[in-house]
Formats: sequence, C-alpha cells, structure tokens
Amino acid sequence: MTLTDSTRRKIVILGGGVAGMAVFTKLHKVLRYPHVTLVEASTTCQYPPFLPLVGVGAVRPEEAEREIANFLPSTSSWVRDQVKKIDTKTHTVVTEGGREIPFEFLVVCPSLIHNPKDVKGMDDLIAEGHVHSTHDLASAQRTYKALDGFSGGAVVVATHAMGIRDDFSQTMLHLIDDFLRDRGLHTKSTLIFATAGEQLFPQDEIHKTLAELASSKGIEVMLAHKLQSVDPEAKEVTFAPLDEKGKPKKDETVTLPYDLLHFTPEMVPPKVISGSRMVARRGDFKGWLNVDPHTLQGKEPNIFGLGSITNLPIPSSMEAIEAQASVLVHNLVATLQGRGPYTFETYDGHTSLPLLLGHNEVLKAGLTYHETPDKKGNPEVDGMSLTEPPSQSGLLWLFFRHIAPRLFWRRRLKRR
Ligand SMILES: Cc1cc2nc3c(=O)[nH]c(=O)nc-3n(C[C@H](O)[C@H](O)[C@H](O)COP(=O)(O)OP(=O)(O)OC[C@H]3O[C@@H](n4cnc5c(N)ncnc54)[C@H](O)[C@@H]3O)c2cc1C
Repeated sequence: MTLTDSTRRKIVILGGGVAGMAVFTKLHKVLRYPHVTLVEASTTCQYPPFLPLVGVGAVRPEEAEREIANFLPSTSSWVRDQVKKIDTKTHTVVTEGGREIPFEFLVVCPSLIHNPKDVKGMDDLIAEGHVHSTHDLASAQRTYKALDGFSGGAVVVATHAMGIRDDFSQTMLHLIDDFLRDRGLHTKSTLIFATAGEQLFPQDEIHKTLAELASSKGIEVMLAHKLQSVDPEAKEVTFAPLDEKGKPKKDETVTLPYDLLHFTPEMVPPKVISGSRMVARRGDFKGWLNVDPHTLQGKEPNIFGLGSITNLPIPSSMEAIEAQASVLVHNLVATLQGRGPYTFETYDGHTSLPLLLGHNEVLKAGLTYHETPDKKGNPEVDGMSLTEPPSQSGLLWLFFRHIAPRLFWRRRLKRR
C-alpha cells in the first residue's frame, strides 16, 4: 500500500526512542511522502538491552547508541525539543521552547520518569553517586565505574518492585553476580536483592524460575521490602517490610549496611501524559496513556500510543514494540484513509521477557494478554499469561549480543 501526495496528512510523533523510531521508520515504508514530524530532544537513539551490559563493562558505550540524524530521511521534519503540553481539543502540541505544532494524527510514546515521590531525595543520591541506577547510557557508565573500583563487600540490589515496565533489576543482579565472580570478588562479597514486590515477577512460573536461580547462586532475596531511605554517610539502606496489602508494617524497618547499592526506582509517566486528558482514570494504570489494547488507538480516534507509557498490562520489550508499531501504523493509515475500524489489525499482547543471567546466558519467556469475559460476555484484557515457559540458553545470548542489535540498527532505522 502506498499513498500519494493527495492523502498527505500531518502526523506528529512524540518521543523518538525505540517506539517512536519504529513508527517513524514504518510510516516511511508505507507512505510515499509522509508528512511526519518527530519531536525528540535527544540527538541520539539508545539500544536499551545493552545498557545493563555497559553497566558491567561487557559492552562498549559506543555500541549502545547512534545519532538520530543518521537515520532520518532528508525530507523528514525533526523538532529537537521536549513536548510540555498536548492539547487534544485544538490538536496542538506545545514544546518547552514555546513552539506550537499542530497535528492531525498524534503518536504518543515519550519515556517514563522516576517517581520523585517514591523515595525522598533519591534522584539527588543517584546524581551524587551514592546510589547507582542503570536506566540510560550515562548512568550505565557510572555503574561500571563504581563496579570497576569495587574491591568486595556488601552489595545490595534493590527495586521498587519487579514490575512490568522497564525494570531490569533482575538482569543487573545477575550481571553483577557474574562480574564479581569474574573478578574473583565473589567470596569477598555478599549479594542481597530486595524488592517491594511480593514476587520476583508478577507471573508465578517466571517468579519460581528466578527464585531458584537466585538461590542456586547464593543470592539472598528479600520480598515485600520497600526501600525507604539511604544514609550515604553511614552507608546504610533502610527498608520497610510490607504487609499483605502492600502497606508498611507499623514500626518495623530493616537496615542493611552496604558498600555498593544499586536501585531501580518506580517508573511513572511524566506530567505531560499523566496531566493530560488521554490517560486511564482508574485501575493499576491510572495516569498512564489509555489506548485500546488491541488497536492501540486512544479515546480520540486520531491519537495512538505504544511502548512503555501505555496502559497495556504486559512488559514493554523490543519484541512487543516491533509488533505494536506494525499494528499502530496499519491502523493509523487506515484511519487517515477514511477506512473503518473493521479494517484494523489487532495486537494480541505478544511480548517476551529477556533477562540476562550473566554475560553469556539469557533467560527468555513469552507472554501475551490474559482475557476474562466482562459483564456482557465480551473478552476483556485484564493481565498477562505465559505462552512460552522460561528457558535459559547460551544460543539466545549469541542472538541477544550479536544479531538482535544489528537487526535493530539496520532494519528499523533505515535511511531512505
Ligand atoms: C536498563 C534497561 C534495559 C532494558 N533491557 C531490555 C532488553 O534486554 N530487552 C527488551 O526487549 N527490552 C529491554 N528494555 C525495555 C525497552 O528498552 C523498552 O521497552 C523500550 O525502550 C520502550 O520504548 P519507548 O519508545 O516506549 O521508550 P524509550 O525508548 O524510553 O523512548 C522514549 C523517548 O521519548 C523521549 N521523550 C521523553 N519525554 C519526552 C517529551 N516530553 N517530549 C518529546 N520526547 C520525549 C525520550 O528522550 C526518549 O527518546 C530495557 C529497558 C531499560 C531501561
């Protein structure tokens, strides 16, 4: 299917990360002369699966990012700024720099941010290097610097919860364990993993596999312990044990000494999304971008969304985003051409969970939507279910390390 000039309609993509660039590339493949504007402040595009590996020095930082400009067709329009407001009534986005960009169709996929209300002062502790957190290239490089200078001691790897959005703390845990073994520091160190979650992953079978793995490596696991505060002078981290309802138990805390502390904070949508009219109003994803789980269309028919920011109850992964981008582009183009929703493609929730278990082994599981009939008997997406049980393999590692990144850079971000 190729559209001609007469059907050019203005499409704005908010966020040029994994999802935004996938949509951008696919629109340029499907439409002959697409009128697409990308709004993205960063000049580089990162390959997130490499960030934990940069964090333990197993991948060079240069391998984890590329200049966005290298991948954009010469005809494309790129606004190097952050969106600060989305006006769904006037169909305009406003950038931090004060630019107003009208849109006929909007694709929403900015990144998540650390929840500043979760642990008071945490962003400052991370910025000052008292706590390490691997979420982008700069932080991954800081994590490696800390590990490289580490000579053994108490290592605490903590997370808000092994949630389903961009929490790769289990990967960091196993990579750090591997790093300590490689450097001969394992016998001089203790490794503790603490999570506010009741399980290591919300899905039972994956939780069980991860718990067995941790136990086989001698890693102590603290479930239902929420990181409460860090004392960087005393080098102590305090956790609040949680009850069955997820509330801190009264007057109970657990304080651990640490020599190295890695923390993954709770990730939440930025205000530009949570403060907009496009969000889910209730449930676990209250404040997240509300899209139909199958069509990826928002409440307004000219707004679509995908990636980490959405209310889809499945982990956001590279595989999921690739599938979502194809469905989204098909449905956006169908809407733009005036074809009805009955011509839409549907996304079934397919995603995979790749976790690194060291620098030569990957644990992978397949997941999809779980659906339950609603009051009228129509299936309603209400969670996730396993399609492929967790399996470990060294071959998967070769794919992860050498093939997947090449496919990502070469296929997805192809210059026209
Ligand atoms: C440490 C880490 C390791 C991971 N490892 C894996 C893995 O091994 N395998 C896997 O499948 N997945 C992995 N993931 C998950 C994967 O990276 C995400 O699912 C994916 O990046 C989500 O894509 P996205 O486009 O929604 O968000 P992002 O890739 O985060 O991109 C969002 C973009 O939006 C931009 N932006 C933010 N705010 C605004 C604004 N206001 N205006 C305009 N632009 C804005 C940002 O600059 C960014 O470029 C990992 C994630 C992390 C953090």
